[in-house]
Amino acid sequence: MVRAEDATASEDPNPAEPGDDEMTRESLSIEVVWKGTERYPLRVPKYATVISIKALLEELTEVDAGSQKLLGLIKGRLPSDTDTLAGLGIQDGARVRLVGTRAADRVQSRAGSSWQDGDQDDALAILDPGDADGAGGDYVEGEDRVVSTDWPAKLAQTISTAEVRIMHAPRAGRKLAVLDLDYTLFDCKNMSGNIVEMARPGLHEFLAAIYPYYDLIVWSQTRWHVVECKITLLGMVTHPRYKLTTALDISSMFTVRSVRGNRGVEHQVKALDFIWARFPGIYDRRNTIHIDDLGRNFALNPQNGLKIRAYKRSETSARTDTELYKLTRYLLAISPLPTLEYLNHAQWRSYR
Ligand SMILES: [Mg+2]
Repeated sequence: MVRAEDATASEDPNPAEPGDDEMTRESLSIEVVWKGTERYPLRVPKYATVISIKALLEELTEVDAGSQKLLGLIKGRLPSDTDTLAGLGIQDGARVRLVGTRAADRVQSRAGSSWQDGDQDDALAILDPGDADGAGGDYVEGEDRVVSTDWPAKLAQTISTAEVRIMHAPRAGRKLAVLDLDYTLFDCKNMSGNIVEMARPGLHEFLAAIYPYYDLIVWSQTRWHVVECKITLLGMVTHPRYKLTTALDISSMFTVRSVRGNRGVEHQVKALDFIWARFPGIYDRRNTIHIDDLGRNFALNPQNGLKIRAYKRSETSARTDTELYKLTRYLLAISPLPTLEYLNHAQWRSYR
């Protein structure tokens, strides 16, 4: 699905109006029924491919996308994974049956996935429990101190094995923004709304504004085809005003043990050393900033981390969330600095 080169040929001929992509805005509602009783209403772009629907359903049902069968999309045969809903002639309101079994061994491995993680950490991160829409309030700045000692070996192993799919080559002299996806750039929880509408307010404007100064890498704690599906449906792969260098998935992460307060926790971490090792001489601790709603993701690189409030879409937050506008101002303000390594990003809201 992510074929950046192919996508370039079909991109919006009028780059001055990136928000007016009809392909992105036109969406269909479909209802997926699983095991006869479980219903998943989805609202997805008309051009969504069958595999992208399967990737969303994998997040919701934990049925592996590769083993899913979707019945009712087309008469008499199973659709190809690369077919689009529009191409199959799917009508708004169509009902589709999902056949597939959750792999028993996946239940355990998903216990630490982003889906549950986000919720748990948000409970810690949000000081005022009434502030669930993220519209106000302040953070408890959680300090995660890594105590496990085997992480250098895990890092080395990850550097040597994880796949990095280059979408657009790094550009000389740019700084690097590493961007978490779930709850940082969009609300991943509710798939019954059009995924485009789940984007955090100002998403594309933010990315387009910082792109002249920063290369962009998305890093999400989920599997590759889910990351790929989300960034494609959000319109981040073919946007005329910015390009992603790459998107990293959970295979580029590993587990460490940290202490926060008196509590020990095992958690996944996004070690920037992974990126620095895979892009030697290009990205380093001086030119990289990592934006995430989970502070523990930058436990190994706390100085490079900037914690953003988790975005949970609601009627209110969709109108009032201004994090990306403030972040644009901060990133543009610090972009001329020769190095970012002496900044305390915890102060980002008050930086002038
Ligand atoms: Mg997140």
